[in-house]
Amino acid sequence: MRKHVVAGNWKMNNDIPQTEALIQDLKRHAKTSEVEVMIAPSATNLWHASELLKGSDIEVIAQNMHFAENGAFTGEISASMLKSVGVKTVILGHSERRAYYNETDKSLSKKVNSALDNGMTIVFCFGEELQDRKADMHQSVVKDQIQSALFHLDASAFKNIILAYEPVWAIGTGETASPDQAQEMHHFIRNTLVNQYNQSVADDVSILYGGSVKPSNAKEIFSKQDVDGGLIGGAALNAEDFFAIVNAIS
Ligand code: PEP
Repeated sequence: MRKHVVAGNWKMNNDIPQTEALIQDLKRHAKTSEVEVMIAPSATNLWHASELLKGSDIEVIAQNMHFAENGAFTGEISASMLKSVGVKTVILGHSERRAYYNETDKSLSKKVNSALDNGMTIVFCFGEELQDRKADMHQSVVKDQIQSALFHLDASAFKNIILAYEPVWAIGTGETASPDQAQEMHHFIRNTLVNQYNQSVADDVSILYGGSVKPSNAKEIFSKQDVDGGLIGGAALNAEDFFAIVNAIS
């Protein structure tokens, strides 16, 4: 059975005092339905955030990791390091990592392998650029992305993968894919998984939508049959907005 998930990507925001304040605010809210709630603070805040949220039902997850176990990779963090601070889930393939740090589906497939080998869960992000959608190439671009990064895996690996469809043109722009555009893509992704694997992989994987989700549009987007929740950027930095989005899941 697939689960509902709302994950907040804090990006490069919030130092320790700001993290403490936002977590205090988050703890004042409660979810009203069956949904897994995650927040992804910066690497420097993961340990402290995990400690502050011990015993709560908000999971602290990472925004990125390196594919190697250890070695001469200055500035990087491995899966085992994340696990040692209590983090069991990592976002991989965010469009900002792809755009600014040259992450490709090929390099991401190595990160995917390392995360899974370390028993972690992955929130795997992908999505087309505006020019792809204008050229009606959005489905083939998305298919290529998931194929190159994930289709070397066995069906069983998908138990530890959450997919996040994030059209690049909708991230941080205020522009949202319409609920019908999101549903159409999520349905296409499930069909792609049926063709590559089987119906149960397609039925069981959670597919989140990300791109300017706000309290005002979340309910309609989440009401779509194949949308299982959201990956939230800007609106995750405000506890009230974030929980309004979490509680838009029914
Ligand atoms: C994101 O960064 O994954 C994202 C969806 O950002 P925003 O909600 O700000 O568009």
